[in-house]
Amino acid sequence: MSLRAKLVPQVEFEAVDGDSPTGGIGLVEGTRPDSLFGVVPIGPIKISLLSAEQLTQRLIGHAFGDVTQHVVTANAQFYVLAEERQDFRDCIRGADYVCADGVSIVVACKWLGRAKATRIPGVDLISDLCRSAAGLALKVFFLGGNPGSAERSAAILTERFPGLRVAGICCPPKGFQSDPEMLSKVLSEIKESQAAILFVALGAPFQEFFIQDHIRPMNIPVAVGIGGSLDIIAGEFKRAPRYIQRLGLEWAFRLAQEPRRLARRYIVGNTLFLFYLVRYLLGYEAHTGRAD
Ligand code: UDP
Repeated sequence: MSLRAKLVPQVEFEAVDGDSPTGGIGLVEGTRPDSLFGVVPIGPIKISLLSAEQLTQRLIGHAFGDVTQHVVTANAQFYVLAEERQDFRDCIRGADYVCADGVSIVVACKWLGRAKATRIPGVDLISDLCRSAAGLALKVFFLGGNPGSAERSAAILTERFPGLRVAGICCPPKGFQSDPEMLSKVLSEIKESQAAILFVALGAPFQEFFIQDHIRPMNIPVAVGIGGSLDIIAGEFKRAPRYIQRLGLEWAFRLAQEPRRLARRYIVGNTLFLFYLVRYLLGYEAHTGRAD
């Protein structure tokens, strides 16, 4: 038996009834209660095991409600931040869905949780949600991104999904949250739009705190943190070809396009991520979760 097999609890998951309360994820063996809810704990965070289709279906259902569902699209950077910052850890734990945006999170689920998480990149989730929203006349709102990205993304998505109702587009300047007047203007715009789905492209961890502190109290039904996804949809950066995505190398493709912004994040961040992963694998902290 390998060291990993000895250290990591054995839990098997399999798809069951798509209409089940767990969104089609059933616990086959093992007794970890979290798995009943279709999530797997990896270190300080819990990753959803829903497929892209199941997640979209769930979120569209929530979009008709009036209680905010906070969706986090997590990558290695999120994991490291959650390890290092109590406030971010609490924020992520308070979110309703944390999906694996990056291949590193999928690997962590496999190694730490013995579970198969689907990679759901923010760009794909936006597309899936907009497709469904268009058919149901649900209004969407795009917030943040590089200047012009939100407008271009909205135009591209409206053309791709005829009938898509764009309730608002807002690209405030960086640091807008420190100006009370500007912050209040942005929040009023979002509230008055009566959007059912809000895409927040303000970068991590800011966008997660923004949703927690400002959007949840407004009861916008679905709020998704999407990082730099609008810049990709708008064509500012290219999406990796399918075969590169399948090889799990989309991050390398992005790094090649934005080396200045991403090099430090990837080199330092991924090294720390690996460090924390190995630390868990060696049983440094109980696999059942942390005390705080
Ligand atoms: N961003 C923003 N306002 C801010 C900080 C960031 O609109 O105050 C945007 C930025 O323009 C870019 C995105 O956030 O579009 C980058 O987010 P992140 O670095 O999380 O993207 P990732 O590379 O992880 O997808």
